[in-house]
Amino acid sequence: MNKELESHITDYVADNLGESYRSARIRRSGAGCINETWELYAEGQPSLFVKIGRKGFSSMYQREYEALIELRKARKFHVPEPLITGLLEDECALLVMEFIPLTPVRRSSESMLGEALAEMHNIVNTEYGLTEDNYIGRSIQPNGWSSNWWQFFCEKRLSYQLGVAMESGIHQELASQIQDIIQRAPEFFVSHQPTASMLHGDLWSGNVSTDSHGVPVIYDPALYYGDPETDIAMSQMFGALGHGVYEAYYGNISSVEGVELRRPLYDLYHWLNHFNLFGVTYLGQINRVVKQLLHCMK
Ligand code: ADP
Repeated sequence: MNKELESHITDYVADNLGESYRSARIRRSGAGCINETWELYAEGQPSLFVKIGRKGFSSMYQREYEALIELRKARKFHVPEPLITGLLEDECALLVMEFIPLTPVRRSSESMLGEALAEMHNIVNTEYGLTEDNYIGRSIQPNGWSSNWWQFFCEKRLSYQLGVAMESGIHQELASQIQDIIQRAPEFFVSHQPTASMLHGDLWSGNVSTDSHGVPVIYDPALYYGDPETDIAMSQMFGALGHGVYEAYYGNISSVEGVELRRPLYDLYHWLNHFNLFGVTYLGQINRVVKQLLHCMK
């Protein structure tokens, strides 16, 4: 089965990117949590990284392709160049991009990473959101454009995920508490009108590395335009990036009053998404931030 899939991949790549890939060496790296991932090596050609999923993943790969193009405007990052997306003969969906040999972020690259993040957040738009809905993990991430940040965040992020969580059986009392928080969310934004910054959108430490020259690399985006604090909050949810990253970041972006108050609100979106994707293990985290938020709102 693997052999058949391998030749479907190399044929597809050769048909679209050049004959020399027909005899490429191919190996499954399988590192992804959602996709199968493969690497292709052909003599004299750039190496390729391929994500493969079932047919229904086509639109997810299309959105990822578009997001990588957009993200490449942040020039201090080495963002993999997306090359093609489509369907194989056996109807598996695929996304082909530049392969980057990745290494964990070392201390010597932390300040470069902080500066690159600041540069990305300095790419701004007039409104919040994105033209198309996209994905965060396998979850749909509704978009469209809005001139009001907190309305956008409450409706398209918190309320949407809460709706899915209610269908998946989150208990009523917790759901009502979250609904109260959403209703009172404007209190968090009285003096906060963030820029509509380019966001990675899913900036946990697993989506950040460096290339062989120590240049920061980001991938697997859930890109939209919004409050840069959301990316920084996400970057600290599963073990923060190195201290030097934040030092360099805040040397280029001024920290805004109230950031610590808004952090649990921004985390709540991702905890709800994790509950929806991975189940009850994340209920504890939801309860914790909900308590924190209700305490602040007294
Ligand atoms: P998933 O959506 O399944 O989590 P990712 O896009 O995060 O997939 O890719 C899975 C892993 O593959 C990443 O954690 C990273 O280690 C590696 N990876 C991602 N993109 C590339 C790339 N362009 N070149 C080399 N390795 C990559």
